[in-house]
Amino acid sequence: MNTVKIYQLNSLSPTHYQRLRAAQQEAARIWNRCMELHRDARLQHEPWPGRDVLQKATKGLFALHSQSIQMVTHAFLANINTTQQLRKTHPQMRMRYPYKEKAFYPVSWPAQAVCKEPGRVLLPMGRGRPSLVLPLALPDTSRSVTLVWNDGYELHVCVEIPQEEQAPGEVHATVDLGEIHLAAVTTTTSKALIVTGRGIRSLKRQRTKALDRMAKKQSRCTKHSRRWKKLQSAKTKQSRRAERRIRDQRHQATRKVITFCIEQEVGTLFIGNPHGVRKGNNGRHHNQRMSLWEYSKDIDYLTHKSEQAHIACFTGSERGTSSQCPSCGHKHKPRNRQWICKACGFTGHRDLVGSINMHTLFFGEQVNFPRSFTYLRPGNVRKSCRRADTPQCRLSESGLQPHVADVVSSETGYRSDDAEKPVSL
Ligand SMILES: [Zn+2]
Repeated sequence: MNTVKIYQLNSLSPTHYQRLRAAQQEAARIWNRCMELHRDARLQHEPWPGRDVLQKATKGLFALHSQSIQMVTHAFLANINTTQQLRKTHPQMRMRYPYKEKAFYPVSWPAQAVCKEPGRVLLPMGRGRPSLVLPLALPDTSRSVTLVWNDGYELHVCVEIPQEEQAPGEVHATVDLGEIHLAAVTTTTSKALIVTGRGIRSLKRQRTKALDRMAKKQSRCTKHSRRWKKLQSAKTKQSRRAERRIRDQRHQATRKVITFCIEQEVGTLFIGNPHGVRKGNNGRHHNQRMSLWEYSKDIDYLTHKSEQAHIACFTGSERGTSSQCPSCGHKHKPRNRQWICKACGFTGHRDLVGSINMHTLFFGEQVNFPRSFTYLRPGNVRKSCRRADTPQCRLSESGLQPHVADVVSSETGYRSDDAEKPVSL
């Protein structure tokens, strides 16, 4: 099983930087060549160029390694294939075949082209041209690599990871994704876990405010002036850092869900897709939060991690699951974190109600509402600045950093405020 490891290529020398840039521009030229060939064939109602035609048309003409060139043509053909299928299955999307000229395109090297040496990696650029040398120690299990621009160069390395060998259990579990609580998991054995997403939420808010502050300053500068450029790079730096921290939090959160599933011997995992929740207009503050909620990433990470753990995983729409009482079926929209039934007096955690109702809907089993649940945070949200006044060790000594589980009973007056506050250090 493969996963992707991301290496940032910061502090590159100007020559090095220019070479990476030139390589991406060269890859874009290959793409443009494929696009022209395909477009001409399509418009003249001739047979579309296949793999062999494209490989022949691009062979030896570009300043890249022969296999890097091939990988661009393969990506192009995969793109054509997907577009063709989408045009058949989803005509309303009006998908267009590639038509835009690209200026840059990611460069890939397959596993056999990458040369790993202790402390550095050599990426060949074709016969007669010097290889790219990057000071990275790639793991032994690494496979193909791709050079990607993401507000700065990154090397995405495909790495083989071992799969868990333990046989899956028989228990079913459902996950209710949320914006405040990233995941609420319940099992058929009435065990429950909630992983909070407030850390991610606050990181996003922090990012939005920081970007806003800098944009205001930028609006007073002449465009492309020295100060404007400084502010622009500060904005990029801020958003890149926020992205990395959010990604880390998301990985930790989804890992906690999967660890819980393994502990509870879960064999099948259902993830409710909250698609449609964002459609309504709920005021500008809530609309911003909703548009920044990346639930598809949660689904992706959970699917990938559960595959590694040999847990069968599938998704479906969770529509209406969180507004129905699990004990009497009465429907109403909950106001706060606590679900209180107006008909039968049932009370329980709102996100767990959604998760419990999915059991009836997708597995056809009635599950008792869990008497208690485990409440976890994804991990520490560290102070972003390295120059922060308080050193990390002192923070952990004073016990300010909550890390371990707090087990909170849902029946003894659970208050969301108590348990969640310490995350925002
Ligand atoms: Zn009820």
